[in-house]
Amino acid sequence: MYDLIILGAGPAGVTAAIYAVRYGLNTLLVDKDSMSGLISTAKTVENYTGFPSIGGMELMEKFLDHAEQAGVTFKVMELNSVTEEGDHFIVSSSEEELKSKSLIVATGSSPRELDVPGEKDFLGRGVSYCATCDGPFFSGKEVAVIGGGESAVTDAIFLSDIASKVYVVHRRDKLRASQILQDRAFDRPNIEFIWDNVVDAIEGKDIVESLQVHNVITEETKKLPVNGVFIYIGLNPNTGFINVKKDDKDFIITDESMATSVRGIFAAGDCRQSPLYQVITAASDGAIAAYSAFKYIEGI
Ligand code: NAP
Repeated sequence: MYDLIILGAGPAGVTAAIYAVRYGLNTLLVDKDSMSGLISTAKTVENYTGFPSIGGMELMEKFLDHAEQAGVTFKVMELNSVTEEGDHFIVSSSEEELKSKSLIVATGSSPRELDVPGEKDFLGRGVSYCATCDGPFFSGKEVAVIGGGESAVTDAIFLSDIASKVYVVHRRDKLRASQILQDRAFDRPNIEFIWDNVVDAIEGKDIVESLQVHNVITEETKKLPVNGVFIYIGLNPNTGFINVKKDDKDFIITDESMATSVRGIFAAGDCRQSPLYQVITAASDGAIAAYSAFKYIEGI
């Protein structure tokens, strides 16, 4: 029987594990992958204090090294379900069942899909949710980025160093991304913003050849000649497996101690409802959740 099982080894989960071990809790950190966290797919992170610019993967490696040095036990496990049994929880995969007195859910979020014709058909053949992973395949080609948030603009800038042209298709005429990123993107001569447009279809034969869009104000349609389509329209929390109170978008609702609606279950990072989704806030959530789990176990 563990004191605490932490589900998800991104910035929130790893930080929670480091704190929990230091509080003396018998802790297990589990994840389906040995390298996790959406941040590991980010080309650069420029707003984690102490690191003016660091690769997402490099930052995640530093977190995991720190956890190893702190004595965190890590297990790769494909989670099937979480159930409550008396005063403890059972975390199950298809192969085993683990028991714990408390849980921290830190399973993060996954890219939201556009849900347009061609998106699923051309996945891996032009459609991508990760420019850091797939961008280099589009050297000298024309690509489109969908969305106007931090992720879309960051990766449009990254892609503009590789692709000959980057269209940013955004459904409004104002970006959601931070001003510093907007200024950088507007300075790139090979980034063209297609304002007030949404995607109707991703088209091609074997690979992506074009993107069909339409203007939401004028209804004018147009075809963009692109081989790559990078989709960044937000994130969906990975919370389907856990039965606690959630908001209408499935983010877990917690109080300020990271406690969920179920006693003994805490949540941290991108999977919970929060005013800000950053590596630093995920790490902060993880620290608070571990402290709360410690108090719960000790009965204080
Ligand atoms: P986001 O901030 O939710 O932005 C999503 C963008 O996609 C918005 O511009 C939105 O348009 C647009 N959109 C949403 N649904 C759409 C649809 N169905 N069709 C077309 N466009 C659609 O998502 P994100 O950029 O992935 O960022 C997620 C979170 O991670 C944010 O909280 C962000 O701050 C954070 N983040 C932080 C960093 C960093 O600090 N280094 C980097 C990346 C992300 P509207 O603007 O019209 O709503």
